[in-house]
Amino acid sequence: LASRDFHPEDTVVRIGTVEVAWHRPPVIIAGPCAVESREQTLAAARAVKAAGGRVLRGGAFKPRTSPHSFQGLGEEGLEILAEARAETGLAVVTEVMRIDQIERVAEVADCLQVGARNMQNFDLLRALGEAGRPVLLKRGLSATLEEWLAAAEYIVASGNDQVILCERGIRTFERALRNTLDLGVVPWLRQVTHLPVIVDPSHALGRRDLVPPLARAAWAVGACGIMVEVHPDPARALSDGPQSMDPEGFAALCAELDRLGALL
Ligand code: PEP
Ligand code: MN
Repeated sequence: LASRDFHPEDTVVRIGTVEVAWHRPPVIIAGPCAVESREQTLAAARAVKAAGGRVLRGGAFKPRTSPHSFQGLGEEGLEILAEARAETGLAVVTEVMRIDQIERVAEVADCLQVGARNMQNFDLLRALGEAGRPVLLKRGLSATLEEWLAAAEYIVASGNDQVILCERGIRTFERALRNTLDLGVVPWLRQVTHLPVIVDPSHALGRRDLVPPLARAAWAVGACGIMVEVHPDPARALSDGPQSMDPEGFAALCAELDRLGALL
């Protein structure tokens, strides 16, 4: 169902009023890794809005490698996201980790994120087929393209064709950077699937100074958008600080991407 052979026309995924598709200008999704406080999230949201981003990201439920790391604010985080959405008019994407969270998260989010660690949580994927919200499906830590597309297939086959694929780097033998950003998948996926593909350089690289060049590269290979982590005070971030851009750096990146225009 996710294949172009079955469905030749590009699928347009609608996150609120924002359209994400192969034949649309690329979309900028940005915000903090985690919702940490009202002040932090509202500051990030205002920065995203001011720079020209269309969608606010931010995790209320965080899938952390260690159980001792900050796990997110949960319900309180969702309320903060709802406030940021109401104030800025930005659409919101946030992660859902469990089936029993879907209903509540869908009340405040315009798009539901499935994190890399849950890409093959098949029961969750099936349940998202009936969530009535678009899904942003991140590529698993070591997922092949076949496995990733099969995960998307679970959602589409369960009744929801509103799926965005997000390349966020994969684990290879190379450890110099956080992950290995696989940009070749973008033109390849454009041939084999009608579902839009975006690129998350923040989680791929793990370093904010390398985000701009790879964001430009994502633009150049024709990605349908990028997802970037932005924090009002990256040095104090409770998660993913080293890869989070500050508002000034993010605004400069957006201006640069704007000058590049859409290379459709
Ligand atoms: C995130 O987007 O903050 C996140 C946890 O990403 P990933 O699932 O790609 O590691
Ligand atoms: Mn993160």
